[in-house]
Amino acid sequence: MKSAAGIGALLLDGLADTIRVSLTEDPVAEVPVAQELIKACALPAAPTAYNVPVLEKDPYHYERRATDVVKVSGVEIGGANPVKVGVKADAIALTGERRNAEFALASLDEKPVVQFKDAMDIAGFASNPSAVPAGSVFCYTGAEMVSGVRALAAALDAAGRQDPILLYAKIGGTEKETLRVSADIGSLVTDGLGDAVVIDGYKGAKETVLLAFDILQAAYCRRSKTNFISCPSCGRTLYDIQQVMGKIKARFGHLSDISIGIMGCIVNGPGEMADADFGYVGGGPGRITLFEGKTAVKKNIPEEDAIEELVNLIKERGRWQEP
Ligand code: SF4
Repeated sequence: MKSAAGIGALLLDGLADTIRVSLTEDPVAEVPVAQELIKACALPAAPTAYNVPVLEKDPYHYERRATDVVKVSGVEIGGANPVKVGVKADAIALTGERRNAEFALASLDEKPVVQFKDAMDIAGFASNPSAVPAGSVFCYTGAEMVSGVRALAAALDAAGRQDPILLYAKIGGTEKETLRVSADIGSLVTDGLGDAVVIDGYKGAKETVLLAFDILQAAYCRRSKTNFISCPSCGRTLYDIQQVMGKIKARFGHLSDISIGIMGCIVNGPGEMADADFGYVGGGPGRITLFEGKTAVKKNIPEEDAIEELVNLIKERGRWQEP
């Protein structure tokens, strides 16, 4: 999912000639994922023409689009609020589950949501902005989500408006659709566009909400569970990284506020997990070195003790929570 959000965002802008998806498993498993991602992010035969100014945006630095706070289904979105995750009310009705959804949308016609179905709808707003009352929530539901939402943001900017944007996707649940929606939403939130996400039609509320939170986490937009950064392994790997990864996920997967790096060797591992809070790094045969940020704090401990030592380290720093 991180690859879909990251590499997919670049593919959608036509900025790639060859890709490699890095997975912590047998390298041959990487190839089909990369191929699916390329297919999922295929560019349209003819790009849509939007009759709005080009969106002015610095592509090198993250800046979230400034928006007003507006309530949807009684819940605030926009402003300084994190990108909220909602669900269609009928998905809840289907499964009886709401899970962690922060709002439930009865329909895309529920005020203050205003739906834009294509380039003509966006051009119509651009030529007569006052037709849509201020304090609306703009939602693009046409083809090519990334360019459509960018055009919507450009039209809003040109009108001097700060209405928030709801990112809405209707998908059927195939892997290709999941990769594409990850690339679409990942690309937009990485560019600071979007104040709420609703994914519709993908099984029940539980799955759609989880998928939306996972995409936001993959794009480093909003964290809802432990963030794992693991290396793909290579000839330098000093332990069975796939097996250890499974054990670490089971032991630490409930810590929503922590990022853990799992790296096969101390030669390159610390650099590759530079933004992790804690690191589990192969220090030598049968030996693990634990990191806190970029500092090695417990060196060359026996591998069989390393996971519990990492628990102790996180406890010592006051960041442990019981599952
Ligand atoms: S961190 Fe070390 S073991 Fe992992 S891929 Fe990089 S060089 Fe190989």
